Amino acid sequence: MDRLMVSVSGVRGTVGGTLTPEVACRFACAFGTMLVRNRRGRRGKRPTVVLGRDTRPSGPMLRNAVAAGLLASGVNVVDLGVVTTPGAALMTARLRADGGAVITASHNPAEYNGMKFLQSTGTGLAADQAGRLAEIRSSGEFFLADTERLGVETTNSDTHRLHVQAVCRAVDCRAVVRRRFKVVLDSVNGAGCAVTPMLLKRLGCRVAHLNAQPHGRFAHPPEPIEPNLKGLCAAVRRHKAAAGFAQDADADRLAIVDENGRFIGEEYTLALAAAFVLRHRKGKLAANMVTSRMIDDIARSADCRVVRAPTGEANVVAAMRKHKCIMGGEGGGGVIEPKVVPVRDSLVAIAYVLQYLAETGKSLSELVAEIPRYVMMKTKFPCPPGAAAGVIAAAQRAFASRAGARFDASDGLRIDLPEGWVCARASNTEPIMRIIAEAADAESAGRLVAEVRRVADSVIAGS
Ligand code: MG
Repeated sequence: MDRLMVSVSGVRGTVGGTLTPEVACRFACAFGTMLVRNRRGRRGKRPTVVLGRDTRPSGPMLRNAVAAGLLASGVNVVDLGVVTTPGAALMTARLRADGGAVITASHNPAEYNGMKFLQSTGTGLAADQAGRLAEIRSSGEFFLADTERLGVETTNSDTHRLHVQAVCRAVDCRAVVRRRFKVVLDSVNGAGCAVTPMLLKRLGCRVAHLNAQPHGRFAHPPEPIEPNLKGLCAAVRRHKAAAGFAQDADADRLAIVDENGRFIGEEYTLALAAAFVLRHRKGKLAANMVTSRMIDDIARSADCRVVRAPTGEANVVAAMRKHKCIMGGEGGGGVIEPKVVPVRDSLVAIAYVLQYLAETGKSLSELVAEIPRYVMMKTKFPCPPGAAAGVIAAAQRAFASRAGARFDASDGLRIDLPEGWVCARASNTEPIMRIIAEAADAESAGRLVAEVRRVADSVIAGS
């Protein structure tokens, strides 16, 4: 189904289909209007927005539409060119801009593109801000500046340099450089193509770079999951590399291949980063509801704990701020190091994994083997929006008498049990429900999914 997908984290659609220049410009006018309203009272000061894009061929077209909307509403634009999402977030904060806009569809195929709007801190919009943006957009009541107050556009090409510098400050570069690691990097022709080799060079690595041309015609589907990374696995074996790293198109997510050319699973990116960080600093960690409990085990062995947040990067970051977490992230390969930038960042994840290898002298497969292994099972099925609350309530009742059961209903329902956990959640953008479970083996995880599915089926049948 070709439709515009609008959520808290931004908007996505197809190029030549739902994501037209007009749609992009209206979003930008709405964002500009919101910032101008926030600035009221501070006379003479125009808000500033940092604007970046990934490498998709549709990027320049959308960039022009977004810049037009921002300038028209009296917002100054700092064009960063092709940058990663964490790079744009870093620059939003560094330049003390009022917000950021990134043109990317992240891990979606090339026919898609999208926009993500950032707060002044660099983090994605909070739910209330996204709600206000949607209101302004649908009302069409945009602030349109007169000639004197139109926005002014400038460019800035410092993103990559400042990003690499910030990541290098968070690690012991010399310890990594001494090892002269051989690594294979797959940037999937995306926004990570230019900046990531700069980081790896600073870390003294010898790099074989796959899909290194930043033209946005992705050599494989850009989601860094196992079926898409066969080439990377083979290259790691061929080069006898210490690690293989795969980024998505906007380089916020990272997946890892071990020295044997084995895809270790995207849940391990955050787990390894957490294990590394807790060797050096003690404190709370944050993760969303459906991140593997590997992170709980890692935290427990360091006498620390994990705060769970509703799904969505901005929610994880909000929980990190509230609970003063030292790091956080999401299971799909997203590591958030607030010392560098308060969004997921594949560059930080790479640097942490390399320092972890350097200081332990162990291989990736050895480090992975130290972390308790779980199996995650997922399913999704049609669920009318009106039935979702009933399913959640019925699932809670069904598990209420289970020994050791703990419930978290802040985002769908997560049930923690001694043998594993299961989470049921209705999608915000489609009439479907997802059930995700994790346990020590596939049979137990499958049983948890089936139990909740049975409850859901009976509620949906009766609704
Ligand atoms: Mg992404």
